Amino acid sequence: MEVRVDLRSDTVTMPSPEMRRAIYEAEVGDDVYGDDPSVNELEEKSAEMLGKEAGLFVTSGTQGNLVSMLAHCGRGDEVLVGDRSHIFSSEAGGASVLGGLFLYPIKTDRYGFLEPDVIRAATKPHDYHVPPTRLLCIENTHNQMSGQPLTAEQTHAMADAAREGGMNVHIDGARIFNAAVSLGVDVKELVAPADSATFCLSKGLSCPVGSVVVGRQDFINHARRWRKMLGAGMRQVGVIAAAGIYSLDNMIERLDEDHANAKRLAQGLAEIDGISVDPDNIHSNIVFFQIPPGSGSAISANLKERGILVNAGDPMMRMVTHYGISSEDIDYTLVAMQEHFRAAVAAA
Ligand SMILES: *Cc1c(COP(=O)(O)O)cnc(C)c1O
Repeated sequence: MEVRVDLRSDTVTMPSPEMRRAIYEAEVGDDVYGDDPSVNELEEKSAEMLGKEAGLFVTSGTQGNLVSMLAHCGRGDEVLVGDRSHIFSSEAGGASVLGGLFLYPIKTDRYGFLEPDVIRAATKPHDYHVPPTRLLCIENTHNQMSGQPLTAEQTHAMADAAREGGMNVHIDGARIFNAAVSLGVDVKELVAPADSATFCLSKGLSCPVGSVVVGRQDFINHARRWRKMLGAGMRQVGVIAAAGIYSLDNMIERLDEDHANAKRLAQGLAEIDGISVDPDNIHSNIVFFQIPPGSGSAISANLKERGILVNAGDPMMRMVTHYGISSEDIDYTLVAMQEHFRAAVAAA
């Protein structure tokens, strides 16, 4: 059956016709010489929007986090990361493999927050038996915590605890614009407490490729050297950066729609016997819900027959809303889920 609703991730978004036009018309040059006007515009615009000095266009969020950690730290340094963070769980340990950095996981609360006392307790003393704790990484929105946005106050509290211990602060803001739209605040406020931040163009903003890192000029210069070493000094990459510029102008405010659809999805799922989810806890575009253990592959196979794609998480299943998913798609998915669970109950 043809795919009708793809809820696996917001990374599956396709460029709109207008975005493709921006790509078609992009002015380009050799970015390794600093000559690509579209890349320069995207980097400046990103820095301006996030209230930082400079920006760096990178190939992915993973690369953005990696060059940021490498630029903040030296070999043998320690980075505090949430134990449920993307950096710790889903980036192949790159900071350790390529940078000789020690990733120290600390407890994440159910809202994606890292308690200041937990940060303080994890900060190592000046003692040559232990690695110097140099950096705290914060994730906003928090993917595994159902897309929880962290407020500026929460971010300040975490950052203050890190600075007391002599650390810098990096925000993995893969979906920071979802957080800003959800909270109704300027994105600048959310990243103000941090030295650097990464955000993804390729998720809810619907670009085909890319992320941007922002921070102080000297930090960005350093990150640019690491990006070159990683083989990502790119040439006429303005064809991709043009999509990023388009998305920053046109794709942010509409994230509200994705959040409304996620809420609608969670409310419908909560009414199904056998599913556990708190719709009041859904504030952006990610819905994690609990299913009976062992039922994940049957659910995803059943949905696939109806043209609905989901990852077979078990017992926590995830659905992500995004550009291209309508409220009708949500209702279609809810009917499929209701019928699956009714049949499963009848068979039991
Ligand atoms: C998606 C994601 C990233 C980066 O992902 P890439 O696939 O490398 O672009 C980083 N952090 C979080 C929280 C993410 O969800």
